[in-house]
Amino acid sequence: MPAMSNTNIKQQQKVNLLDFTTEKLKDFFIEKGEKPFRATQIIKWMHQYCVDDFDQMTNVSKALRHELQKFAEIRAPEVVLDKASSDGTHKWLLRLEDGNCIETVFIPEKDRGTLCVSSQVGCALDCTFCSTARQGFNRNLTVAEIIGQLWAAKRSLQPKAGGERVISNVVMMGMGEPLLNFKPVIDAMKLMLDDNAYGLSKRRVTLSTSGVVPALDRLRDEVDVSLALSLHAGNDQLRDKLVPINKKYPIKMLMDSCKRFMKGKAARERITIEYVMLDGVNDSDQNARELIYTLKGVPCKVNLIPFNPFPDTRYKRSPTKRINQFRDILIASGLIVVTRRTRGDDIDAACGQLAGEVNDRSRREIHFLRIEKET
Ligand code: SAH
Repeated sequence: MPAMSNTNIKQQQKVNLLDFTTEKLKDFFIEKGEKPFRATQIIKWMHQYCVDDFDQMTNVSKALRHELQKFAEIRAPEVVLDKASSDGTHKWLLRLEDGNCIETVFIPEKDRGTLCVSSQVGCALDCTFCSTARQGFNRNLTVAEIIGQLWAAKRSLQPKAGGERVISNVVMMGMGEPLLNFKPVIDAMKLMLDDNAYGLSKRRVTLSTSGVVPALDRLRDEVDVSLALSLHAGNDQLRDKLVPINKKYPIKMLMDSCKRFMKGKAARERITIEYVMLDGVNDSDQNARELIYTLKGVPCKVNLIPFNPFPDTRYKRSPTKRINQFRDILIASGLIVVTRRTRGDDIDAACGQLAGEVNDRSRREIHFLRIEKET
């Protein structure tokens, strides 16, 4: 690799290797006159062994390690808080270089360990029942900041588990709308699936979206992952209120896009339909029948999410009895339904409670307009 002059290096910020997929790192190395297999070695050190010090990469030549130290680094967001809930749920507050903070949550279950990952600082959408929306939007996360959440969580959990794999599933259900940060999210998910990195199966990596139709149509050609859709209402009038992006991409358009998504690959079994249960808002028998009608012809399973309250919200969680009745109507129509158990209540780690610390709320409008143009 050609040596760089010292002045050059001082002027330039170091390249963060967590920003690279294996393919991109190969290209980067080839450009620098280095052998492409070095990229695979380094990806393994970074993501399989969570190494951030080039000196520990013992199968990489000393000369290359020395060169890498000069212009590259491995820099994940900094863990500033690590809270554990009484039910085993973990929440990390991660600080980004610009001072913003994001949250990442780990939910252990009997047969799996799920990491809930954020895609943006805050969120540009304005779903009325979600506390992240209250924080406004600041910016998109980089690949390093998205995959860095998995990196930091794995580094924190794996040693305690005697080196055993603890994170078996990743859901892009933290802060932000992943389809509005398309390319970095795709690259981060490629690393999640990559055998040289995290090696998770496509059934165990799930992107959750509120329904950005043009981006959803592009997703199936980019990466093979599972899909969750935040539907929350079976009619447009109600969904317009709960998930305002519905005004732009209404239910019929969204369902057609979901059907196209499912046709793409034989391996895709079902979309997970997320439906937050809001007392007296979307939980009536009539709402259940509308949902059944909406989901006709869509291979799916329905996930009912008891609403998680946050300060000053206008909504209440539906009573358990109502959730069960709603569920039974769906089941009677032949749908597969599960009610999500609320986890991490004591550390505010549940869905829609991730707030991080977001600076600059004012940019939401601008960003949203720009994104609409892009997609
Ligand atoms: N923007 C993406 C991912 C983030 S939200 C999306 O909309 O899918 C992840 C899930 O949590 C979504 O289904 C969302 O609707 C749900 N959620 C948000 N706020 C919630 C709350 N207060 N209680 C329960 N679920 C909530």
